Amino acid sequence: MNAVVAAACAVLGLLAGSFANVVIHRVPAGRSVVRPRSACPGCGAAIAPRDNVPVLSWLLLRGRCRHCGQAISVRYPLVEVAMALAFAVVGARIGADWALPAYLLFTWTLVVVAVIDAATRRIPNRLTYPLTPALAALLVAAALLDGAPGAALRALAGGAAAFAALLALALLSPRGMGMGDVKLAAFIGLGLGYLGWGHLALGLFGAFVLGGVAGLALIATRLRSRKDQIPFGPYLAAAALLAVVAGRPLIDGYARLTGLG
Ligand SMILES: [Zn+2]
Repeated sequence: MNAVVAAACAVLGLLAGSFANVVIHRVPAGRSVVRPRSACPGCGAAIAPRDNVPVLSWLLLRGRCRHCGQAISVRYPLVEVAMALAFAVVGARIGADWALPAYLLFTWTLVVVAVIDAATRRIPNRLTYPLTPALAALLVAAALLDGAPGAALRALAGGAAAFAALLALALLSPRGMGMGDVKLAAFIGLGLGYLGWGHLALGLFGAFVLGGVAGLALIATRLRSRKDQIPFGPYLAAAALLAVVAGRPLIDGYARLTGLG
């Protein structure tokens, strides 16, 4: 059953990845994500539907505009493939559950925010402001349909707790973390809180572990200096998705290891 859900989610992920590219490209520039239709930045020719098929078009065109031959960034097909994979794995984990729409929105948002933050070092309010209440509404609806109102309360409490925790950290060390990270933490707290407090702890703590390891690696390989600001959003996003997909076995393994389980 979950294989069917995963396959359907993968196809949906390709389309969601295609739209994610529009959002990643336009939202940081303050442009509409609806109008105008996509056009080649080189020659301005509108991109025809046949040249807008996720991944396939880019491969067939060999990464070049059909009209002027300007290179099309490999980021476009990579985002589409990454979104399809992420949707498939999350779909397999959540399965045919009322909470599936919420977790696909969760996944889509985290991939988009990670790419935008890595590229621009900003997490746009234009994404977190509308998508955080949207996620809360989907989770509350899922909890009520599942007859588990406790999960809804835990999601809301998780969102508030994660927001408060990162706000405290941002105030203590304003250099490392921005308000965009704090608002993203509220979004992540909702999604992980719904699954359980262990998932939330794993997602937040995991972000600092991933960020710390990657930061040290970047400094050691001299790709970054100690003074560079390293965006934190991609690590928050990666750890949150890891907590959704592998939270249960990781938490159980930790409990066994420490004799708590
Ligand atoms: Zn062109």
